[in-house]
Amino acid sequence: MVKELYIAGEWRLGRGHVIQSTFPADNSINAEISTASAEDIEEAIAKADQAWRAPEWRNRMPHERAKILYKVADIIEARVDELSQLQTRDNGKPLAETRGLVLSAAATARYVAAACETLNDELTSQRAPDFMTLSVHEPVGVVAAITPWNSPIASEVQKLAPALAGGNAVILKPAEATSLIALELAKIFEEAGLPKGLLSVLVGKGSVVGDAIVKHPLVRKISFTGGTTTGRHLAHIAADKLITTSLELGGKSPTIVLPDADIELAAKGIAYGIFSSAGQACIAGSRLFIHSSIYDQFLTRLVEITKGLRVGHPEQKDVHMGSLINQAHLQSVDRYVQLAKQEGGEVLTGGEALTTGEFAKGSFYLPTIITGLKNQAKVCQEEIFGPVLVVMKYDNEQDLIQQANDSCFGLAAGIWTESYRKAWRISRALEVGTVWINTYKKFSISAPFGGFKDSGIGREKGRLGILSYMQQKSIYMGLSDQPNAWCD
Ligand code: ADP
Repeated sequence: MVKELYIAGEWRLGRGHVIQSTFPADNSINAEISTASAEDIEEAIAKADQAWRAPEWRNRMPHERAKILYKVADIIEARVDELSQLQTRDNGKPLAETRGLVLSAAATARYVAAACETLNDELTSQRAPDFMTLSVHEPVGVVAAITPWNSPIASEVQKLAPALAGGNAVILKPAEATSLIALELAKIFEEAGLPKGLLSVLVGKGSVVGDAIVKHPLVRKISFTGGTTTGRHLAHIAADKLITTSLELGGKSPTIVLPDADIELAAKGIAYGIFSSAGQACIAGSRLFIHSSIYDQFLTRLVEITKGLRVGHPEQKDVHMGSLINQAHLQSVDRYVQLAKQEGGEVLTGGEALTTGEFAKGSFYLPTIITGLKNQAKVCQEEIFGPVLVVMKYDNEQDLIQQANDSCFGLAAGIWTESYRKAWRISRALEVGTVWINTYKKFSISAPFGGFKDSGIGREKGRLGILSYMQQKSIYMGLSDQPNAWCD
């Protein structure tokens, strides 16, 4: 049966063409899903605009909005097994990882619920005798939330929860490959008591459905996670409409090993930082800089660890890497590896797809380590979004920082050292939005997340994450019995 969409508070078939959701590990079909037509988009946005303006939502107290989010968190948590299974079927990530993402989505909803009760408006004037001023926060209106396929449930709740907590309505356009989890989320928000119309999930192609949503005049904010090219395109649309964006884009994050690093800890952390999610993460630590004094020793250990990683069926236990999202993406990853070889790189391990036996029908690629390239090589500059690590040697800190920053991206970085003074100095010099010291890919919901340079604009998460879905209004209240003085 073809899956229905959640349009303007109703479950019904979208009037666009039908697409298939497939399981990347063996290409079997998970479901057929209808997509949104231009009329569906119009209907969803018109209803969303009414829904956020309705007194029922506008005047709802923060703790009452929070109640819905707490319930969302409870439902997500109670259904963790089923939801992680669904997300694994959608994008081929190992169950252990998708389970973590589902639980983090529940934690996000809970954090936003608590945080939205703590937001204050301000009394800004302190000394004016004849008036006082207040600064209050208002919703922006209808928000377009556009998400990628790599960690859908986490990125979707990270947008829906603060946008709804801020009093807005949301049109969610998930990636075509991972629409099932978004539709399930709509059911969860509905069950938690979200009034009709405040959320629609419109499945379809980004360049058609996504484009039409963001260009709609009633859409007043774009919250996007995805590739830099698409993000730039959306920023142009937002500029024309004079609306705000939050753009969480690509990365080519440097990881740095100082001479005094704990080698075992660092090598394991670095392998996790690049090869978890099969490298399909914007924050993947994909460029590694090792100090020359420990280069050989460190690399030997890293290669050993990497060779021990288990690539396998994502539904099996103890699998480190599942399937890539699809064959087209696998070909793109492999093209980068071939290019690296042409540019003089040496593949120390990996560098090929797994194509036989249980891997025959999926898109599995071995974790790959490449050396012998300079930071200017294409493979060191462009985002591969796969299990490919390029390794470089450095001698002094100044040169290291120059190379680490020599990238159009600036999303994240890792530093491995026992010296917190050095770690602090280097972390302040790196042009990135997040630095991990002696750890990698850890997230706190209360820490803002976003990129420098081509890695994006705006920050998600934290208490300010809710305010990013609101706009400030200043209200002046006259206190004087006298008429306004004519000009002062
Ligand atoms: P990725 O490389 O991670 O797939 P994309 O930027 O292509 O990154 O896609 C991220 C999300 O953006 C997906 O939901 C996709 O459908 C959507 N998207 C792609 N192109 C557009 C567009 N022109 N307008 C709006 N959304 C788009």
